[in-house]
Amino acid sequence: MGAADLHTMDDPLNLDGHFMNEALRQAWRAYDVGEVPVGAVVVRAGKIIGRAFNQVELLKDATAHAEMLALTQAQSAVGDWRLTDCTLYVTKEPCPMCAGALVHCRCARVVFGALDTKGGAAGGVINLLQFPTLNHRCEITSGVRGEECASLLRHFFGEQRTRKRELRESRTVRAQDSDASGGVEPGIPGADGSPQHLLGSTDRDQ
Ligand SMILES: [Zn+2]
Repeated sequence: MGAADLHTMDDPLNLDGHFMNEALRQAWRAYDVGEVPVGAVVVRAGKIIGRAFNQVELLKDATAHAEMLALTQAQSAVGDWRLTDCTLYVTKEPCPMCAGALVHCRCARVVFGALDTKGGAAGGVINLLQFPTLNHRCEITSGVRGEECASLLRHFFGEQRTRKRELRESRTVRAQDSDASGGVEPGIPGADGSPQHLLGSTDRDQ
């Protein structure tokens, strides 16, 4: 029996699948504008009261993760910072910042899709959502539509790597052209490629 079967048994109406689908729709919106594709929704009494996608690049704000934006919306909708009867659905395991926010607003339950073995704070690396010394713990359900959530991220980072490689190659070709004509083009790195830190985000982001 696979993970998907277990979830179906726990959740016969597949509400988790339904709301994760809404989070995935948000993740696709992020993908469409070139953001790391992560989406989140907050659900209270069967109703979505917050929905957002990662907007770090758009807002030029490293804290603009999907979860943070969705939680702010949900708190506005409830009229309270406490989200004690809410569930957050997110396509990727929350990072430490978002896990901290989820504990602060006392979110009852967190459902995520893809595991993050590099930076996940819901058990992937550390479990801040159920940290023994903190005053609130969230219930966790993982792996809901996990393969879809993960494959969207893999696809995004695969494309990003291809773009970086093409950029490096085009710079190398231009550098060779300059050499051939005896000119020197400023700012062109050597054939070993461009400095990685100048080329945007890496898989570790978001
Ligand atoms: Zn985060």
